[in-house]
Amino acid sequence: MMIRRLFIFCLVLPSSVACLPWMAVTAETSGPMGKTNSGVLIDGSELAATGDGYSFYHSRERRYGSMALTNLVTDVAKTVAAAYPGSVLQVGDMSGKGGGRITGHSSHRTGQDVDLAFFVRNPQKSDTRDYLLALHDPYGVTVKDGHAAYFDYEKNWAVVEALLTSDKAQVQWIFVSKGLKARLLAYGLASGRDIDVLNRAASILHQPKDSAIHNDHFHVRIFCPPVETAPACVQGKPVWPWVNNPRKHSQSAVSDDRLYAMATEDL
Ligand SMILES: [Zn+2]
Repeated sequence: MMIRRLFIFCLVLPSSVACLPWMAVTAETSGPMGKTNSGVLIDGSELAATGDGYSFYHSRERRYGSMALTNLVTDVAKTVAAAYPGSVLQVGDMSGKGGGRITGHSSHRTGQDVDLAFFVRNPQKSDTRDYLLALHDPYGVTVKDGHAAYFDYEKNWAVVEALLTSDKAQVQWIFVSKGLKARLLAYGLASGRDIDVLNRAASILHQPKDSAIHNDHFHVRIFCPPVETAPACVQGKPVWPWVNNPRKHSQSAVSDDRLYAMATEDL
């Protein structure tokens, strides 16, 4: 579906003329509109509460996203479940119907954000929901009721790799704590994973400075859809060099040397 009309509004001031683009919101308008922390989602696509290889861990109506995001989640869940039969990706909040503000989040407003729980393993099993959203230390350890469990680097790397290689959407950020990022990169390097994916992950995996450190789940954000399908989506920085996105802003990728430094950083 397309935005039907694009208007230019101009304010005539005594000393100048200021013009702003504005979209007519019609029945054919869809997708993200505005910024991820202040916009809305027009005619979002709704994911079922459970599907092939995934399940939402909250029973609340925050299962709406842009078409690209819902396609990405289902694609990643299928990819990981194919590699690890029986795995169930635990999905958290996306956006509410129509987008806009939802409690507990400053973003998640335009159908471009989704939370994904970590895969956690204890000595008996992996994927356990017993440790859902458990806080991990920088070494990937979490303790509950006196029992330790561990960040499952293999499966969590599979999630990151699936996110970065899916053709359904392009990922801008995966928020995760600094310690878990370093160890994920170290895991990927030690296990001979694709170096291009590792280099991109070194940029995209990120501990945010202005919110929680994300040592209990991944927060994934995708780029705005193409301008033709969502002209009102406002793209935030950065746009990575490998991303085919004509919107403004760009930032250098992490170099090989920096990747190795990150993965071996003394935390
Ligand atoms: Zn989030």
